[in-house]
Amino acid sequence: MKTVVALPGEGIGIEVVDAACELMTAAGMPVKILTPPQRDPNPVPSPAGGHALPESTRRTARDADAVLFGAAGPSTSGVVAWLRWEMEAWGGVRPAKFYPGMRSPLADPEGIDLVVIRENSEGIYPGREGDLAELKRVMPGSRDRLGRGLDGYGEGRYAVKVVTRQGAERIARFACDVARKRKARGGRGVVGCATKSNVLRQSDALFHHTVEEIVAGCPDLRFEHFHVDDAARRLIRFPKAMDVLVCMNQYGDILSDVAGEVAGGLGVAPSANHGDDGWAYFESVHGSAPDIAGRGIANPTATLLSCVLLLDHLGLETESRRLEAAVARVYRDGRALTPDQGGRATTKAMSAAVLDAYRSQ
Ligand code: ATP
Repeated sequence: MKTVVALPGEGIGIEVVDAACELMTAAGMPVKILTPPQRDPNPVPSPAGGHALPESTRRTARDADAVLFGAAGPSTSGVVAWLRWEMEAWGGVRPAKFYPGMRSPLADPEGIDLVVIRENSEGIYPGREGDLAELKRVMPGSRDRLGRGLDGYGEGRYAVKVVTRQGAERIARFACDVARKRKARGGRGVVGCATKSNVLRQSDALFHHTVEEIVAGCPDLRFEHFHVDDAARRLIRFPKAMDVLVCMNQYGDILSDVAGEVAGGLGVAPSANHGDDGWAYFESVHGSAPDIAGRGIANPTATLLSCVLLLDHLGLETESRRLEAAVARVYRDGRALTPDQGGRATTKAMSAAVLDAYRSQ
């Protein structure tokens, strides 16, 4: 029996995690689901915003085989900050796969099956920001590519983007592993990399060339590079030509939303986030969707497909394949889809249909 900690976050995160946990339990999967509290009775503020996760919950989540997270919002950004930053879940996996019946905005989406690998721990998102006046003080010699200093700017702010060789190598190796596993299942064995190395010739170029070097060391894989704006366009125009696309943090965040939307919408886009020593947490790409929260109409697919990744991670391949096939079947049938997919089903009705499809295999 594997132990999974469920942390719903807020908004629709609560509804979709409830639905997924109910399904895994009702399906008799060999997972024990724990639901420790997300906040202390006297909540402690988190430096990342919202409240901090209680220490006892952190311990339970650290010791679990995996964590299933719902969606972060203003009061639970501390929860996701702990999962991603403090637990250093540096390797983001964001598949975008079209299942017939999904509501893709493209005319011919059949065959879209790609994965964005997002470096989760570096880049610009750790949030080292400040006042431009302070930067002028500490970096008086800073020059742009035309040799201009910072004095030409008036009042403003700055943000630091960090790229390390070690971080780029780590995510590149991870992307190669993913590409290899996909190749074994019929994938194309191509690792694409999206940067803006033509403009950011030190930071993005380090990432670009490090990934290129690592992929060059894998004779079974092929490397491709796209400038990030071109990658966004290609994801819409030629999504079927993409296999694995490895990106720095912010580009991965943005491109995985594009990829998810192209496959069928934010409601269907799952993710896995891997740290060291096999620790990982799983979550939908979408946020707490305050506009539809509490109405029982959130699409549970993103979370159910995150459970597919979670089960795979736990070594429960049979359950994982079966759950994916059940989701695919519900889309093929088209009778129990939530409003974002053009149907009228509630979250619970759709996950009940997936459970039926799971049982009937
Ligand atoms: P947050 O501020 O928590 O990130 P948000 O509304 O800015 O929330 P998302 O939660 O990612 O961003 O959602 C964007 C929109 O996509 C929502 O307004 C909602 O209409 C739609 N959406 C997201 N997830 C789902 C889902 N699971 N089912 C149906 N619609 C969804």
